[in-house]
Amino acid sequence: MFTQNLHSHSTFDDGQNTIEEMALAAQAAGLTSIGISVHTPMPHPACWTIDAARLPDYFAEVRRVKERLRGTIDVFCGAEWDLHSAIAPTGFDYVIGSVHHIAIGNDLPCVDNTAEETRRIIRQHYEGDADLMAEAYFRQYLTLAKIDEVKIVGHLDLLTKFDESCAFFDEASPRYLAAATSAIDALIAAGKVFEINSGAISRGYRTTPYPSKALLRVISERGGKITISSDAHRVEDIICGFTDSAALARDCGFTELWRFDGKDFVPEPLNDM
Ligand SMILES: [Zn+2]
Repeated sequence: MFTQNLHSHSTFDDGQNTIEEMALAAQAAGLTSIGISVHTPMPHPACWTIDAARLPDYFAEVRRVKERLRGTIDVFCGAEWDLHSAIAPTGFDYVIGSVHHIAIGNDLPCVDNTAEETRRIIRQHYEGDADLMAEAYFRQYLTLAKIDEVKIVGHLDLLTKFDESCAFFDEASPRYLAAATSAIDALIAAGKVFEINSGAISRGYRTTPYPSKALLRVISERGGKITISSDAHRVEDIICGFTDSAALARDCGFTELWRFDGKDFVPEPLNDM
């Protein structure tokens, strides 16, 4: 049985349900712990993040739900912290480090928005060379790897969000693979845990989770650690795709999932899932 989902959102950011509703859904799904991972504020106005002024309320509400459900499910106060976030990744029980943007001079285009925006970024900033964009995108993980508070790597290849309909990136390209592998090596050396994230499946963008099977194989061969998460934005998706993600993980050679126990990450056998 699955025990944990560390990537979930609530009405404090772009989620549809309250923290308590998400925690109760996790409990009903048989999980023994749930992490709420609020999108931290960006330097620009963003509809998908919490406002900095509401952060104290967020901490208080997670604490309240944690106390209310104590003994039935553990509730952790996490963050999905973007590399370009406006705040430091401190004060949370754990932090997922994600890269939703590419920094290009003063511009910060988003790879998570629309296929049109991804097309525009490739054409306008990388002269139509998708490999060049991938190299710039994955290079940012070298910075993320150095941030100690970040324990989990969120949706590693988010830039491929629209690839099932638009085929922007050639994941078999040696340059693409080399860029992703450099990022993976730096993240593994820093001890980060990679998530298998099914969020784009529940929202209809993809039929497979992040990262791609090819990159998961690279992570597995190099001894990387994984967790399975749903990036749930509503109660219905609390363990969406978990069974398929576990099968994919086994197929890629993983034998363990890494579970957060409130302090550290500990392994549990994948065969039990
Ligand atoms: Zn994200």
